[in-house]
Amino acid sequence: MIFIGVTGGIGSGKSTVCSMFGKKGTPVFYADAVAKEISEGEALQEIADEFGTDIIDASKKLDRKKLAGIVFNDPGKLEILNTIVHPRVFHSFQEWKHRDFGNSKFAIVEAALMFESGMFELVDYVLAIVTEEDERVIRISERDNTTVEQIKARMKNQISMEELLELSDFQIQNNGSVDELTSKVNFFSILFSTLQPPKELE
Ligand code: ADP
Repeated sequence: MIFIGVTGGIGSGKSTVCSMFGKKGTPVFYADAVAKEISEGEALQEIADEFGTDIIDASKKLDRKKLAGIVFNDPGKLEILNTIVHPRVFHSFQEWKHRDFGNSKFAIVEAALMFESGMFELVDYVLAIVTEEDERVIRISERDNTTVEQIKARMKNQISMEELLELSDFQIQNNGSVDELTSKVNFFSILFSTLQPPKELE
């Protein structure tokens, strides 16, 4: 079984690419969604101990906006949050890897912070989705109720496009239409079915 990490800056189109693979029957592990679940569940108490009970709202749920306001303006605090959440996400992924994948030759792992978190070490290859920054800001503004400043603050916590190109094994440029993106995903789907795990090639 081959595990392909899919990453890219916020708004690059990672989730879109992963859902295209998913529609083709490829198993997908959504690390960011798992991280969200963990921070709202098993890690909530630890997060509140670290960041104060203020981050829990009246209905006893995590106030994500408040937490984002704290961590996206303070790299040290973001680091603390990551050390609480990331190891639990890795553990969940390691368990997921042992499920029955049926006839699938490869599986996909979506993670916004693939390299920053160290998750790349748990996959065989990384596919980066690369999109011009201006286009990403436009797409996120249309997707989320968020300001350009908030978008830029999140972008600052991710590695640069140059580093992404250097570190990843494959890239998809997503500056064009959704149809173009679909064709590229179809191409990579065929390619990934033919890959051998890098360890077996050594
Ligand atoms: P990410 O997961 O990397 O943050 P998304 O997949 O959510 O990015 O894409 C950001 C937004 O841009 C979404 O609303 C998505 O539907 C849209 N989008 C993605 N690719 C394209 C494209 N090629 N053309 C137009 N809109 C796109």
